[in-house]
Amino acid sequence: MRRTRFFLPTLREDPSEAETVSHKLLLRGGFIRKVASGIYNFLPLGFRVLKKIENIVREEMNKAGALEILMPLVQPAELWKETGRWEAYGKELLRFKDRKEHDFCLGPTHEEIVTDLVRKEVRSYRDLPLILYQIAPKFRDEIRPRFGLMRAREFLMKDAYSFDADLEGVEKSYQLMYSTYCKIFENCGLKFKAVKAHTGAMGGDFSHEFMVLSETGEDTLAICENCGYASNIELTPAISKASYPIEPIKPLEKVYTPGVRSAKDVAEYLGFPLEKITKTLIYIIEEKEPIAVVIRGDHELNEVKLEKILGGKAFRLATEEEILKLTGAHPGFLGPKGLSMKIIVDKALENYPNFVIGANEDNYHYVNANLGETFKADLLADLRKATQGDLCPQCDKELFFLKGIEVGHIFKLGTKYSSAMRATFLDRDGKEKPILMGCYGIGVSRIISAAIEQNNDEKGIIFPWAIAPFQIGIISLNKIFSDKAEKLYSELSALWEVLYDDREESPGVKFKDMDLIGIPLQLILGKSFQERGEIEVKIRKKDERFYVREENLKNFISEISKTL
Ligand code: ATP
Ligand code: MG
Repeated sequence: MRRTRFFLPTLREDPSEAETVSHKLLLRGGFIRKVASGIYNFLPLGFRVLKKIENIVREEMNKAGALEILMPLVQPAELWKETGRWEAYGKELLRFKDRKEHDFCLGPTHEEIVTDLVRKEVRSYRDLPLILYQIAPKFRDEIRPRFGLMRAREFLMKDAYSFDADLEGVEKSYQLMYSTYCKIFENCGLKFKAVKAHTGAMGGDFSHEFMVLSETGEDTLAICENCGYASNIELTPAISKASYPIEPIKPLEKVYTPGVRSAKDVAEYLGFPLEKITKTLIYIIEEKEPIAVVIRGDHELNEVKLEKILGGKAFRLATEEEILKLTGAHPGFLGPKGLSMKIIVDKALENYPNFVIGANEDNYHYVNANLGETFKADLLADLRKATQGDLCPQCDKELFFLKGIEVGHIFKLGTKYSSAMRATFLDRDGKEKPILMGCYGIGVSRIISAAIEQNNDEKGIIFPWAIAPFQIGIISLNKIFSDKAEKLYSELSALWEVLYDDREESPGVKFKDMDLIGIPLQLILGKSFQERGEIEVKIRKKDERFYVREENLKNFISEISKTL
């Protein structure tokens, strides 16, 4: 591709609307443009990356024997009503009416559509197993679309669905998709990790997330180097290393703590370590029942664990007004003693002596509170996020933590959808049984953002070879080399994807643009060519340079590209 014939509007400055590196670079590099919140145009450069990823995904899915189909974005409400998700799915499901006043939605996922397809066509165990997939737009009316393609409202997903006759079959399909996903992310040139995950609104009983490792990731992963345990922190049991020093229980004492609210300030004011302070949080369940949750000041509440304890019921933090009404005090002075509501206490406070709680009276705390003595717990449970120093639930060695971006999620669904929608088959024994399902998603467009978050420097993007929009860039620094540049361009284009910057721009502008858009190999015709007939080959990743004679160039590129 000649740069003069290509539609590549780059920007010099960071756009103010973008917060993350990948979002900034996607806009600056002319990959995408915003149409509305969370809705984007893909420009030719962005489209090329998208298609590359799509093709890697397609190739591996096909190799696994999955069959590509295409399902509609617009879906009738009737199917969603059958599974109860028409009501249960939140506002992310964009619902609307057609001209005949029939209810429809834009598909955020396709379990209902695919289950409907399969229940009508699959009759017998002979038709199973079956894995169907598509690569198609999804729409989710995300509450906070952000970070460009990372959390968009309209985005491209690969979604696959497996159908099996028995548990052994589901396990096989699941493992097949697991290994296929590993190959896909490897082939994209990404550093990733598969972790055990929460099943969330999708339901089902088992799932793994695939995380691209990046400091900027929103998810935290707990990893054990010793036994290979890996889970999303949402799911990690919190197991403390230290056992508490034996301490006699001291008498409860009410202390004056004027204006001292946060656990950190209370610790400082009283001269206690932070771990001796507790936080009491008031939640409202399903807009009616208040509950109190008590955890240590140095710990963080894991809301996914709380959600599980509450049996999946909706809950939210109480407002300041509600808190005042329920406890008689402002936030910062809350404690479990004397509260007339259900009290759930984190396990780390079991047998934990002499800690500090709020007194439910402004400007007062109690010191030397003890569970069982000072107040009772209705439930003692693991509520906190695992943290540095905690132990692996499998082998007792210390865990370590990484940040990641979720790019794929696989679920064993069991019969959740097939039972609700009566998708059955006749088994060998002549009995009618619900089909066992799995579902498997990859955020194809999110991978672009994740890849950039993982691979960038101050000059711009550093694309892995496999997903780069162009693999090779040619820059000629002097008009006298134009013929040579043309020749290189036409020869190399037969083997690789080449962007030839044939603009009449300064070398500086050309270098900057090539670096910004992340072309992994850059061929420069300049001083070394003039003096010694050698082409300067710049490796974007390490900013390394090699000087290669034309006759050796193709071999050199073939070899070096394996390391990119
Ligand atoms: P998240 O927790 O990030 O909202 P999810 O659990 O809702 O993701 P799934 O329903 O499992 O996601 O969708 C499959 C994949 O689609 C995800 O792993 C992710 O890579 C991608 N994805 C989900 N929501 C978005 C979005 N709003 N924008 C871009 N990609 C998305
Ligand atoms: Mg989501």
